[in-house]
Amino acid sequence: MLWLHVLYSVALACAYKPLSDSFLKAIPDAGVDLDPENGKLLAPILIPRVPGTPGQSIVQKHFIDFFQTELPKWTIEWHNSTAKTPATGNKDIPFGNLAFKREPPWVKPGQSNLLTLVAHYDSKLQPPGFIGATDSAAPCAMLMHVARSIDKYVTQMHDEMAALNEGGSVEMDMGVQILLLDGEEAFVSWTDTDSLYGARALAESWETAMNPAMSKYHNPNRQISIFLLLDLLGSADPSVPSYFPTTHWAYRHLASIESRMRNLTLLESNPRHPFLPDTEGAMYKGMISDDHLPFLARGVPILHVIPSPFPHVWHTMDDDGKHLDMATVRDWTKITTAFALEWLDMMEVWYEPEGAAVP
Ligand SMILES: [Zn+2]
Repeated sequence: MLWLHVLYSVALACAYKPLSDSFLKAIPDAGVDLDPENGKLLAPILIPRVPGTPGQSIVQKHFIDFFQTELPKWTIEWHNSTAKTPATGNKDIPFGNLAFKREPPWVKPGQSNLLTLVAHYDSKLQPPGFIGATDSAAPCAMLMHVARSIDKYVTQMHDEMAALNEGGSVEMDMGVQILLLDGEEAFVSWTDTDSLYGARALAESWETAMNPAMSKYHNPNRQISIFLLLDLLGSADPSVPSYFPTTHWAYRHLASIESRMRNLTLLESNPRHPFLPDTEGAMYKGMISDDHLPFLARGVPILHVIPSPFPHVWHTMDDDGKHLDMATVRDWTKITTAFALEWLDMMEVWYEPEGAAVP
């Protein structure tokens, strides 16, 4: 048993293959779709979207329409809950988390390990009219673009593996899910009970949702290979430290993608320092409360991509579309796309362009 475990670990470690330069160059730019004025992905999210208000439903519909029309192979799961908040008295406020998932077609329930990309979509009740462009409309739009960019490689991988009758061994059964969470913000002021409404409900319900007997993973929380949480992204000059020693190795992969893409002049921004400067693992001292906490408490590995310090616009009326630094938004999107492709081992389906010319 012990030996098997060691062998699996070795196999998993070996499976991680960095994307080649040519693959990095092929990572698509989100272009005008992330434009805050009329970009198809981002603009519809830049409205107040407080849980229990019409904006919440409008944005939920935007996400669902996008996946249904552009990414029909992704499954859509709602996770609904209600809670009372200190601002709304006895009324039950609805919270709707959305999970968009793409698994290999051969897996049984509870069998896949899932790269889990996360952002919250709700906005703060106060100040009135608050938009929350970095918090976290832009990260949601980034993840929509990531899903769209990786989809064709995921399809190709599934088709090729199915044709070869591969799959069904642990490291092959990789899927990806995008969690757009509701109710991250406090309604009055941040406490353990006035914040993280959606994430708390989801982590708790996944912990008790037992996968079928004999599943590789006992519950949906165990299926999360890494919980990559994007938050407060879209202002210029972000500095994201490494928060968790247990996932520092993954942070380093993300940082290495940034530095390689900068060297290949694939990124547009010109920051004073890298977005991900903490490669030596100095580690952030302290704790940032965010949607990862209920999952962290249940042993889920977390990669928290949030700048420290927070952007200047944080929780002010200036956190709107006009104040986004679009070069930074597009660069985060490319870096995250490359990380997802690398994590999902997509070099397996990448054919070097020059290879085609060899007789
Ligand atoms: Zn916030």
